[in-house]
Amino acid sequence: MPSYDPNNIFAKILRGELSAHKVYEDDKTFSFLDIMPRTPGHTLVIPKAPVRTFLDIAPDDLAHLIKVTQRIARAAVKVFAADGLTIQQFNEPAGGQVVFHLHVHILPRQTGVPLKPPATFKEDSAVLSDQALKLAAALKG
Ligand code: AMP
Repeated sequence: MPSYDPNNIFAKILRGELSAHKVYEDDKTFSFLDIMPRTPGHTLVIPKAPVRTFLDIAPDDLAHLIKVTQRIARAAVKVFAADGLTIQQFNEPAGGQVVFHLHVHILPRQTGVPLKPPATFKEDSAVLSDQALKLAAALKG
């Protein structure tokens, strides 16, 4: 498998070189809104460790990532009044991965509303800012 490329987009977000609509952060994880959401509230959760895929992460860091993902997913279901929830995680181009820093997708779902195809719709920055604030507030409350 290829090695980790420190110039991937999410590594740049972690280093503060690119901006993101932050939802949550702790010492091991960072969460932000997807700029091309497949559903309102499409949120990404990433480890701070430089890992390319699910196969590379230390098991304890993975356990923490999943715990944080569940916390954020609960908040997302509340904030977006979701009827359901889809969690996705892709590895390597053959597995659908496009950005090569491990990440988990949180997708709040509404009955009868299909996911938009990937990378087909760029959300307005003001909308994402508002959604990120609401999610961050729900996580604190
Ligand atoms: P994948 O690697 O297929 O699991 O998906 C990568 C995801 O990253 C896609 O849903 C993109 O819309 C999203 N994405 C790409 N660039 C950014 C960015 N700068 N900020 C937030 N999300 C991004």
